[in-house]
Parts: sequence; structure tokens; C-alpha cells
Amino acid sequence: MIILIAEDDAISRTLLERTLQRAGYEVIAVEDGEKAIAELVKQDAPRLALLDWVMPGKDGVEVCREVRRRKELAYKYLILLSSRESKQDIVAGLESGADDYLTKPFDADELKARLRTGHRILELEDHLVEARESMRFQATHDLLTSLWNRAVIVELMSHEVMRSRRERSCSAVMMCDIDHFKSVNDEYGHAIGDDVLREVARRLHNSVRSYDMVGRYGGEEFLVALNKCNPESAVSRAENLRAKIGGQPIQAANVRITVTISIGLALSSEFTQCTVEEIMHQADMALYEAKAAGRNCVRVARPSGVAKPIEEFPRETPVLAP
Ligand SMILES: [Mg+2]
Repeated sequence: MIILIAEDDAISRTLLERTLQRAGYEVIAVEDGEKAIAELVKQDAPRLALLDWVMPGKDGVEVCREVRRRKELAYKYLILLSSRESKQDIVAGLESGADDYLTKPFDADELKARLRTGHRILELEDHLVEARESMRFQATHDLLTSLWNRAVIVELMSHEVMRSRRERSCSAVMMCDIDHFKSVNDEYGHAIGDDVLREVARRLHNSVRSYDMVGRYGGEEFLVALNKCNPESAVSRAENLRAKIGGQPIQAANVRITVTISIGLALSSEFTQCTVEEIMHQADMALYEAKAAGRNCVRVARPSGVAKPIEEFPRETPVLAP
């Protein structure tokens, strides 16, 4: 582990450096507070620091305050070193944000023991951050497919539709549903069904741009939002998604299964008076039309209410090949 030493006295600094190197640390040693801060804010900066209280320029207490102010930094374990021993000094030092306080001259064994405490705290901190990230992921993603979950995709899409309205651009909202998915589950079992869902999710996700959004709306239904979308190209992009799913069989365990999707598409620019929920409902109605038209096709919602056929598409039933 890397440790930072900030100490203006050259003899003390060398002594500390040697003690810590013997204890197995990689050491960065600087002689004032400004340099200490410059080291601590770097990428992959040391997370343990020994800071002398009295230094020219910024002193150890100021370094502690500044590091704590910068919330974007990963947690640093800061130990103040000082020859001040009064209770008030110790309290003032800890209140500046230091984690621990050591009086000079230091005892090498005590210093190493305190550093081990620092390690434990940093490990706990890492576990907490990991747990928080994992909870955040679980709260916002669908656990089977790792796509956005329903609540989040609807929320994100609402923001995008509002923004496209302000900017007079267009978002394409697509409801995509795997055709005859129940027969996949019935014929191959739910484990294979899950593999199919994951692969469809992966293909959808990989077929859109980084600022588009894909979420699992429920069961075998996915919601895709193409943001800043040219209305003329929306249909061909929906067609492209449809081809990405149906064009190649999915390998799941030892079977290859071809599934197709039906897509209902609604353009926010065509429903400027509608709420986001109403636009989604329009996309859903268009999906219903696509299903009624024989599946494996795209239908576009029109303000008049009847989803418009794009052109004739092959009306394939899904091929369930072993
Ligand atoms: Mg000093």
C-alpha cells in the first residue's frame, strides 16, 4: 500500500520514510501541505497519509480540512503528527477531519499499529461503497437482463421526451415484445427462456447508440427510447432492431432458437399534446396492431388512432429449431 508523508523537517521525514519502507509500505514523501494536497487529489492517490501539523504554507490541519471538503475523493485515512500534546490540541486536530493523532517523537510499533487500524477502516469503507453500488444497481436494473428496470426506464424516458419537446427534437418510443415467447418457455423450460431474454436484451442494447435507452418493461416486453431521433429514420432503426433479433438464432445451452419481435413505435413529435404515459400507450397500441398483423413487424402509432402499416413484411411464425 502507498502511504503519503508530509513533514517539513528533513530528519523526521527520512526517519519516517525508512520506518515505513521497512514495514513494507511504498512511500511518497513531501515537505509541505500544498504538495500533500496535490498528491492526495491525484488519480490512484495514496489513501493513507501521515501529516505533520506544523508545516510552512498549508499546515496538517488545513490539509485535513481541504481533503474532507472534497467529497469527490475516495476516503483518505489521515493521521496528524505533532509534538503538541494538550487535550485541546488533540481535539482541534481531530475536529479538522483527522482520523487519528500521534505525538512526536513517535514510537515505531505504535505508528505501525495505528496504520493497521487505518487499513481496517479503509477496508470497511471499501466494503460499504461496494455494498452501496450494488444496492444502487439492484434498485435501478432488471436483475435478469441488467437493463434498466421498468420504473427507471419510464422515468428516464419521461425526461428525454420532455427535453426533446423543449428542444423541438424527437424521441422515438418503442415497445418491443418477443413473439410467442410462452412457447419457448413451454418447449424448452424457463432456464432456456431466461437465456433467450438475456440475449434479446443484449442485442437490443448493442444495437442502439450510447444515448439511447433500453429497459425491460416486464416479462418479454422491452422499452426502447431513441433520443434526438430523426423521425424519418425511426422506422428503419426499428426495422434494424427487429432484424437484429430475428436474423440470427440464439444459442441457449445446446439448442439454437430463432425468435422474432414485434415493435410498436410512437414519435414524440407526433403527439406533442400527450403526456409521456399517453405516448407509451400509443406505442403499446401500435404493438398490438403489429401482433394483430401477424407479428415480426413494426407498426407506427398515428395521431388519428390507427397504427399505420409500414409496408409488407414476412409474417413468419417463430422457428423453434432444436
Ligand atoms: Mg513541522
